[in-house]
Amino acid sequence: MKITIDQDKCCGAGTCVLVAPDVFDQRDDDGIVILLNERPPAELHPAVREAADVCPGAAISVGSVGEDA
Ligand code: SF4
Repeated sequence: MKITIDQDKCCGAGTCVLVAPDVFDQRDDDGIVILLNERPPAELHPAVREAADVCPGAAISVGSVGEDA
């Protein structure tokens, strides 16, 4: 799994941080998402997929990387 984020689409809702706090954080000043780990371990993949699904700005993209998808 490889995550990419588009900070221009992020509205700072913070849902991703609630769902997957090991992978996402928010900037202190404006709440825009920060990607902490673009290749998280397998146990975090379900939470990352949920975060991408619920993101109101569709700012989170999840791609596959070989067998690690
Ligand atoms: S859920 Fe989406 S819009 Fe909200 S902070 Fe995360 S990336 Fe930004």
